[in-house]
Amino acid sequence: MLSLLFASSLAVVFPEQQDIYLEVVGNKNSANRQVFFAPHENEHVINQYLAEKTHQEKGKFLVLRQAGQREISLSINNQTILVDPNRIFTLRGIKHSIKKLNPLLDISSKNFQQAVNRSYTLGQFIVTKMGGLNKQKTWLAVHNNTQGFKDDGKGGIGNVSMIRYRYKLNSGAKYLSNLTPLVGDEDDLFFVTNKQDFMQMQAKGFNAVLQNPIVTSDIEEDDGSLSVYAQMHGIRYINIEAERKYQGKGEDHLSMQIKMLNYTLSLD
Ligand SMILES: [Zn+2]
Repeated sequence: MLSLLFASSLAVVFPEQQDIYLEVVGNKNSANRQVFFAPHENEHVINQYLAEKTHQEKGKFLVLRQAGQREISLSINNQTILVDPNRIFTLRGIKHSIKKLNPLLDISSKNFQQAVNRSYTLGQFIVTKMGGLNKQKTWLAVHNNTQGFKDDGKGGIGNVSMIRYRYKLNSGAKYLSNLTPLVGDEDDLFFVTNKQDFMQMQAKGFNAVLQNPIVTSDIEEDDGSLSVYAQMHGIRYINIEAERKYQGKGEDHLSMQIKMLNYTLSLD
């Protein structure tokens, strides 16, 4: 029996590996234009609130579930192979993620190839359950990052932060188009593909990062993430990122993430 976290949700099992499933909250056939998705199971600050909201508003919210970890464990011929579920939407991203997370795995092995194939199938399973490549929909991802960022000189961890994005943009990172001036906490930010969203978020006093459409054509910038995949397919994408407490550092920024989420619900 698969565990469910939220009222009135259901489990949609990934046929190729049945311990992986989507917990789907709300109306499976929702006519709402917005579809919410939580890919990293250990980033769940907003989930309870979002599940209740989704239920009230007859929306749709999908949570990728397995064993509570950030990474998905693929079981391939009795071998466990890890993959980042936010890197499974293109083959290039999948291969890169599997190599990085399983440094001892022989990339010419059958198991490597099977892990790549299963990851790709999982990515497409998620896309289908989000309603497919429908340009009328907006995909909204929910994530939680950590205090500061690695090498920030203040003991921070992780790699999501307005300050880090500023360094990246200034040093020529191609996947970034623009960044709002920092307001409030560096870790609470929207990451978006739509310039109008970006400008409106800035006007409303939020932190926002605009992805560069070059990610759709420059192979080097294809990391297999949902933001890149969405932009490749012309789908509006908004990632709602807020800090969480992790390894004794930082705090759960629930009230800020609720404010950000409610703002996205007000968008056309
Ligand atoms: Zn995440």
